[in-house]
This record gives sequence, C-alpha cells and structure tokens, in this order.
Amino acid sequence: MRWEAVVLYALSFHPQAANVSDTGRNETRGTVTHIPRSEHSISRVNISPNALKVLYRLKDAGYQAHLVGGGVRDLLLGREPKDFDVATDAHPEEVRSLFRNCRLIGRRFRLAHVMFGREIIEVATFRALQQGGDQGADQHVDDEGRIVRDNVFGDIEGDAFRRDFSVNALYYNIADFSIMDYTGGMADIEKGVLRLIGDPDTRFREDPVRMLRAVRFATKLGFRIEAETERPIKALAPLLGDIPPARLFDEMLKLFLGGSALDNFEMLRHYNLFEQLFPLTERALGHEENHFPLMLIARGMANTDKRIEEDKPVTPAFLFALFLWQPVRERAAQLEAEGQHPAQAMQHAGSQMIAEQAAVLATPRRFSLPMRDIWMLQLRLENKGGRRSVRALSHPRFRAAYDFLLLRAAAGEVPQDLADWWTEFQETHADQIAQPASRPRPRKRRRNRSRRKPEGQTG
Ligand code: ATP
Ligand code: MG
Repeated sequence: MRWEAVVLYALSFHPQAANVSDTGRNETRGTVTHIPRSEHSISRVNISPNALKVLYRLKDAGYQAHLVGGGVRDLLLGREPKDFDVATDAHPEEVRSLFRNCRLIGRRFRLAHVMFGREIIEVATFRALQQGGDQGADQHVDDEGRIVRDNVFGDIEGDAFRRDFSVNALYYNIADFSIMDYTGGMADIEKGVLRLIGDPDTRFREDPVRMLRAVRFATKLGFRIEAETERPIKALAPLLGDIPPARLFDEMLKLFLGGSALDNFEMLRHYNLFEQLFPLTERALGHEENHFPLMLIARGMANTDKRIEEDKPVTPAFLFALFLWQPVRERAAQLEAEGQHPAQAMQHAGSQMIAEQAAVLATPRRFSLPMRDIWMLQLRLENKGGRRSVRALSHPRFRAAYDFLLLRAAAGEVPQDLADWWTEFQETHADQIAQPASRPRPRKRRRNRSRRKPEGQTG
C-alpha cells in the first residue's frame, strides 16, 4: 500500500520540513545531479517488465516517468526489489486514461494502481510540498495539524524532498535511463548511510513511523544511521503512541517477518522504540532476574529469521506468543494466587494481555486465537503421560505449541527432560499428530468483475 495514503492522518504540518538545507547535510534545493546511464548500474533487464510497460506508456504519451523509491535503491545495491513504484507528472485521471487495467485509489491521496495479475505498479503524481491550512478542496490541514488531503500536484523536486531517506529519493528516468539525485542519495548509497532528508527532528515529528523505517532499512541494507538522523530518535520514540494501532501492526510485520527480526529487535530496544510497540514485553525484560524471557524471545526470532531464509512459512502469532509469554505467566500466577484454577487463570491472563497489547498494536483475531491456543497447550504439555498427552497430539496447534516448549526449555524455563520427553513421545505417535492448521489466505476481491482478460493485460 502506498505510504502517503496511510500516513496522511498521522502527518503534522511543517512547511519548512524539506526546505532545510542546514550545513553539513548533503542537500540543497535547486541542485540536481544527473547520473548518466554509463555511470550507474541499473539495467532494464532487472526491472519488472510490467513496470517498464507503465514507464514507457507514460513517456510515449508525453509525460515524465520515473522509477522511484526502494526499487531504485535496491537495484543500485544489487538487491532484488520487493516492488516497483512509478512517479510521474501525469495526473491520476490521465494515468487512468492510458491503462485499461488501472484503478484510482485513495481520496486523501489519490493515486493509480496499474494491475497485472498479482503485480501492482503504483503510479503517483508528483506532489507539491504542503502549504498548510486550507488550500481548497485539494489540500487541507486540520486543526490538529494533520494533513487530511494532499492532492496538490507539484514537480519532481518537491516530490523528492517529501520522501523519507535520501537513498529512497532517487529517480530513474525512463527517457534517458539516467538517475536524478536531488538529495545526495547516491553518495549515501555508496557510503552505506541512512539519512533522513531535511531536519530529522521535524521529519520524525511529521511522521513518527519514519523512526521504525530507519531501523528496518538500517538492518535490511546493513547501513549505518547517520548521526544527525539518529540523534532525536530516543527522545521522540514516545510519539509512536499517537500512531493508529493498525498502521503500527503493519510496520511491525515488516520488522519481524522480513528476515531480520533479531537485528531489528536489538536496534529497536537500543532506540527505546521496542517499548512503544510491546510495552508489556519491555517491562518483563526489564526485570533483572528474568534472563529467560530475553533468551526465549531472542531464540524465537533467530528461528524465525532462519525459517524465512529457508523459505518456510512463518506466522506472527508464534512470535507474539513469545513476546507476551512472560507477561501472561506473571498475570496467570497472580490470578492463581487469587484462587483461580490454573487453566482458568491462563485463559484470563491470555485475554487480558492480548487486550492490553491490542491497544498499542491492533492484532487481528486470526493471530490472537492461535496465540491463546499455544499458551493453553503449554499447560497440557507440562504434564506428560497418559491419555491427555495422546489427545494433545491431535490439537491443530500441537506443532506450534511443541516448538514453543522447546524454546522454553532451551531458555531454561522448563526442564530439558520435559522437551525431550515430548520429542520422543511424538516420534512414537507420529500418526496421531494433527496437520498444522491451514494458514488463512488473504481474501482478494476483484472490484472490476467485467474485465475480460484478468491476467497480464497491458491496458
Ligand atoms: P521496501 O518496499 O523495500 O520496504 P521502500 O523504500 O520501497 O522499501 P515503501 O514503503 O514501498 O518503501 O515506500 C516507497 C517509497 O515511498 C519510499 O522509498 C520513500 O521514498 C517513500 N516513503 C514511504 N514511506 C514514507 C514515509 N513514511 N515518509 C516519507 N516517504 C515515504
Ligand atoms: Mg517499496
């Protein structure tokens, strides 16, 4: 999903944001560096054919057309881009008139999606810098300083300065295959530096999610966060509290299911950002005597990263269950001390922790339900032997719960003997183990049912 569409409600207005050209930072408005094709490594061979189709069609219709964002950055670094975004001076309606397989989305930030089967090429019109206040129907900043509408179109330079990091603001021009660099992004790519465009304090306040993005890109690319960019992060971390839980949840998935969970976890903790996402977990980790939750979580994340590298499926439910395990245990112990039956205490503790966590990160039920199963099954797995053990094997979440138990044992929370017993037990009863619960597929509904050629059409 396009970032602008999501962040608009979270942005506050700072007209000087992208204009700052403080000394020492590599950016001055009004200057652009053209890097001709012969001096950079981006080849069309590595660009998705669909993105090329979009770029060429725009160009042939007389518009400017550029590849921008992570696509350009990753190609320059020799990595495979996740997706390709296009920036143009064509207005959304003009884009639509060029492509049959195109729909316009977003009211507050209108942009075009050109669809090629599963691949979507996002085409955004260059935006002008925010002017603040009410600029009529196209641009509006509410009383709290949030931008509620941003449809004032501008030029490529304004568009570059509105982006987050310099390495994300490089434009690959399909007209001559050159790269346009307004913010010093090429030098930063070469140096391996992640630098926020403009004044970092201002830009992080505009959209605090940029702090999470800084961590994610730093670990993913192996880049160092530039000193000025990193300086305000610890102090501004609490601003994440104002971000809608659903948006934080999406960011969290990118942080923990992108293959660098452990690195992100450590860096997020370093910048006081982790406690903004998982306050209950951070509190549990803060208790000096609790070494095992840290080991449990660290091992769980290392496993997750390994599974991703091996192309095995991963679910956030398992990681979440690990994050919240210590808080759940502590609450369950408290409820038991108040007289509740252990299973009842675990049920209630699980519900309470899920509810408290959801206030920060909106966790969909398809994740919270398996989490509770994993926790409840721990009680059953702690008692070995008898018919109950055989029955546990047929629980659809047995596998996850068993993996969870192994981590608990490795972290020293339960005896290794117990884990070993289950390892052996399930080997001798392999035929009784339920297949893992099928993973829910995102439901995709086609808006335009009348389309004749649903796949691969070029409009
Ligand atoms: P990846 O897709 O690999 O995670 P990306 O850089 O492409 O990385 P996207 O979230 O796809 O990230 O966004 C595309 C581009 O939009 C970014 O490269 C950046 O130029 C701009 N952008 C995204 N989010 C923000 C933001 N919160 N503030 C400013 N610019 C942003
Ligand atoms: Mg992207």
